[in-house]
Amino acid sequence: MLSISPISAFSDNYIWCVARNGEAIIVDPGDAAPVIKHIEKMGLTLSGILITHHHYDHVNGIDSLLELYPDIPVYGPDNQCSSINHRVRHNDSVTVLGLTFQVIAVPGHTLDHIAYYLKNSPSGPALFCGDTLFAGGCGRLFEGTPEQMLNSLGLIQALPTNTAVYCAHEYTLSNLNFALVVEPENHKLQDRFVETQSRREKNVPTVPSELALELLTNPFLRTGNSVVQQRVAAHADLKSWNQIDIFASLRAWKDGF
Ligand SMILES: [Zn+2]
Repeated sequence: MLSISPISAFSDNYIWCVARNGEAIIVDPGDAAPVIKHIEKMGLTLSGILITHHHYDHVNGIDSLLELYPDIPVYGPDNQCSSINHRVRHNDSVTVLGLTFQVIAVPGHTLDHIAYYLKNSPSGPALFCGDTLFAGGCGRLFEGTPEQMLNSLGLIQALPTNTAVYCAHEYTLSNLNFALVVEPENHKLQDRFVETQSRREKNVPTVPSELALELLTNPFLRTGNSVVQQRVAAHADLKSWNQIDIFASLRAWKDGF
């Protein structure tokens, strides 16, 4: 039995808990307290930590968890976070709890950003992508270029369409608000907005989302679509463009939205 549960942290973060046979892997523990509370309540033992990138809201809980579980592996990219004891890079495999995660380098939000792809999960493939792809949106470009982020999202787009996307924030409603300004006539997007609104009214998480739905409704995965291109070009007053220009203008538009 495998279960993947969100642990709410800060105002809108999700720390993911992957549990199997009483043991758990935690993805991006930005805060230790809610993680400890969750694993104690569920009767789990912590067996490993996966880190996607160096931002405080993804790494600040590691040291407190290591005080309780000093011998566990902490996997993560080669960055300034000294608590990571197993450095991984693109195409590496990480095996914890008998589950093998493939590491995908996805620079853009930060330069060190990686994602973990779990291909053989009993419930279908799963991707833990931190602040790279969000439900209905993507991460801000704090360190990388639009071209890097577009390439990174391209790697995610190439995964099987039934991949469940586990991102690290509950941003879906505001992302879809923006997406509707870009593509007001997209019926799938309209339906998704209504569904998301009703879930948030009940305080139900809107993630994970399926990659297939992201491909149909997330404008940051649709910058090759001519309708999206026309709309972004008109907004940014581009006379001629390539897909990177469209992506850069779309990201800038969202930043100011
Ligand atoms: Zn971040």
